Amino acid sequence: EKIPALPDFDNSFAGLPEHFYTRLAPQGLSEPYVVGVSEEVADLLGLPADFLASPQFAEVFAGNSLLPGCQPLAAVYSGHQFGVWAGQLGDGRAHLLGGLRNAQGHWEIQLKGAGKTPYSRGADGRAVLRSSIREFLCSEAMAGLGIPTTRALCVIGADQPVRREMIETAAVVARVAPGFVRFGSFEHWAARDRQREVQQLADYVIATFRPECLAAANPYDALLRDVSTRTGELIAHWMAVGFMHGVMNTDNMSILGLTLDYGPFGFMEAFDPGHICNHSDNYGRYSYRNQPHIAQWNLYCLADAFLPLLKRPEIARASVDETYGPAFEGTFERLLRGKLGLRSALADDGDFIGETFGFLQQHRPDFTLFFRTLSGLPAAVDREIQAKTDAPLRDLFVDRAACDAWLEGWRARLAQTPWPDDERQAAMRAANPKYVLRNWLAEQAIRQAQAGDFSEVRRQLDCLRRPFDEQPEYAAYAALPPDWANGLAVSCSS
Ligand code: AMP
Ligand code: MG
Ligand code: MG
Repeated sequence: EKIPALPDFDNSFAGLPEHFYTRLAPQGLSEPYVVGVSEEVADLLGLPADFLASPQFAEVFAGNSLLPGCQPLAAVYSGHQFGVWAGQLGDGRAHLLGGLRNAQGHWEIQLKGAGKTPYSRGADGRAVLRSSIREFLCSEAMAGLGIPTTRALCVIGADQPVRREMIETAAVVARVAPGFVRFGSFEHWAARDRQREVQQLADYVIATFRPECLAAANPYDALLRDVSTRTGELIAHWMAVGFMHGVMNTDNMSILGLTLDYGPFGFMEAFDPGHICNHSDNYGRYSYRNQPHIAQWNLYCLADAFLPLLKRPEIARASVDETYGPAFEGTFERLLRGKLGLRSALADDGDFIGETFGFLQQHRPDFTLFFRTLSGLPAAVDREIQAKTDAPLRDLFVDRAACDAWLEGWRARLAQTPWPDDERQAAMRAANPKYVLRNWLAEQAIRQAQAGDFSEVRRQLDCLRRPFDEQPEYAAYAALPPDWANGLAVSCSS
């Protein structure tokens, strides 16, 4: 039965030659049910409300029936995993249903967890409810934070068992993004000396997403610079909000500069730059502090894959260096000035930001609470009542004198670029989220969902869409991890 008024698919990725992917239908879930839906993403796609409310919705996004016009496929790619060439990978449990263009952009819909593909490498092609909820909530939380990311339309669950460390249940998350091309999609062909395919893929990306590159003397160099710039901006956003991806392999790096492939990610709590959120990352390659350097390393891998497209190969890594560093540093400083309430830039801001991170590292307050609480403090304070005025921030520290000393430096800096308190505080609250997807929050949503109650997923989605708003009804979501959450570990198992 035809679903009314659905968007028309153009399936642009399927227009690439057949060896870029394998056409195959998803294998759905039996008796699927809706665990969560993002209405914002449904709106981006132009999905009609009656379709969302219909029983067909769960069937379609579990992979049991296809929307008219879809040409499902799994894409091939390769990549460097933990710094080592891993050879061929690919969509081992993802089916690209199709792509469409509407007034709001170009959108591709991908089902993650809808069965095996030729790239599954012996694994089951499934995703568990736990990791699907994490990807769903975090995708939408990142979008709420204003950070470039793939989106998630919904999570569909089913009772069918999936074996991980324990028996869990299966789910499918429907991801939505302009495109899912990865650094590794280029490395795949470059490693095989298939220059023609590297070029075809670059031509596809430019034509579909970055037509402005065509105006450059070398459009491929322009594309490399574009990816490098966007990646620098992305990592600056991650660092500024305390996000750790956890598995920054080149196959998880988006050619569009989006946060991609949510696995053992984490948000910084007690500030520790060496924090490793992925329990399987034994050497801390993807620790918080390593992310900027790793992104650049990954860009070098991409640059090497672009070599055949560049007339002067020696410029490849130089193009990364010329764009990545300035994009990362410029964005990071801008974001930190915003977080600290600095109205305009001064030459020494880099030093003050560096000192602030040193101070946070030494005293380890909760990263999110520190900046949010700071947002409420006045620029000038009466010495007599200072301890009371500053109490909300001081209470985050064991060493209150150290907090006082830092605050004095902060106030001295604020005084150099005066800004009325109410305006500055509003600007700081718009730069410092109250709500991030803390591990304990995700875990709470997961445990309730595993017990058959999806209302916590819905509430967290509702809250995390607007992370800068006070939302008193969700105040508990801004809290430090409760005792039961101590020692929660997140691994690659998903
Ligand atoms: P990841 O570390 O999650 O980015 O996964 C690396 C590769 O393994 C990707 O190509 C995935 O598609 C694939 N993969 C991970 N888990 C599974 C699974 N359960 N079934 C099939 N392929 C998987
Ligand atoms: Mg094929
Ligand atoms: Mg991946």
